[in-house]
Amino acid sequence: MLIIGSHVSFNKATQLVGSVLESLSYGANTFMFYTGAPQNTSRYPIDLEKTKEAYQMMKDNNIDLDNVVVHAPYIVNPANSDNFDFNVEFLKNELKRVEQLGVNKIVLHPGSHVKLTKEEGLKNIIATLNAVISPSVNVKILLETMAGKGTELGTNFDDLKYIIDNIEYKDKIGLCLDTCHLNDAGYDIAKFDDILDEIDKKIGLDKVGCIHINDSKNAKESHKDRHENLGLGTIGFDNLINVIYNKRLQNIPKILETPYVTFDDTTKERLYPPYKFEIEMIKNQKNNPNLLTDIREEYRK
Ligand code: FE
Ligand code: FE
Ligand code: ZN
Repeated sequence: MLIIGSHVSFNKATQLVGSVLESLSYGANTFMFYTGAPQNTSRYPIDLEKTKEAYQMMKDNNIDLDNVVVHAPYIVNPANSDNFDFNVEFLKNELKRVEQLGVNKIVLHPGSHVKLTKEEGLKNIIATLNAVISPSVNVKILLETMAGKGTELGTNFDDLKYIIDNIEYKDKIGLCLDTCHLNDAGYDIAKFDDILDEIDKKIGLDKVGCIHINDSKNAKESHKDRHENLGLGTIGFDNLINVIYNKRLQNIPKILETPYVTFDDTTKERLYPPYKFEIEMIKNQKNNPNLLTDIREEYRK
């Protein structure tokens, strides 16, 4: 079964109910969200009544909680030792929040080594994860493959293997593949099965817990990390469809993180979510070269 969704919002007032409603409006059967602002670490309490209400809505609409994913805030940098204690405390609390929501997967950026060496950065990631993960944790941390912008780590499967090999409780660690990041890091998405072979050989395909489906604004190996709407980037629609429908990853949730669409070609402000349209393209397995105009027309009504 196709498990497809997008990044959705999660706010203080409506919490998981709002996220489910947004997902349903896109025709999705899963979703990903930040439990607060992605760019900061301030977090409000989880409303258990709202969570229960959301569970009922999910049940009624065939959304399996096991396919829902949380994304950790991207300002947490586990590769940097300066904030070690804060990072560990924050991530431990975040895992508790995720657990309260009944979600069992959280995507985490491995981090950037900045002024440290790459080796020091990798060691810090391992130390942070081992301090955060204990046998009682019921959430799997999925390390995201990164584009290699600046000093980002986790841009290849040797580094990711090195991290995972050094995690004490290995059943609580996994991978999140991101097609834009893989492309920008130098992998050829047109040869996706070769990428899967490499993962399987080095880490094990069973470690893949989520896939972010994004086209890329930039060329392979550009190390830029700028997502593009489906079919409008350098990866292309057919290659993305082959990722989404790859038999080896059938039961893995696919999450869109493509950019919102601007009002017109001259403005920069991004207003309209593309997900309803992109999910339709995915379900039909048919590219829509007029994606942007179609979205603008729909939302202007
Ligand atoms: Fe991410
Ligand atoms: Fe991503
Ligand atoms: Zn990205």
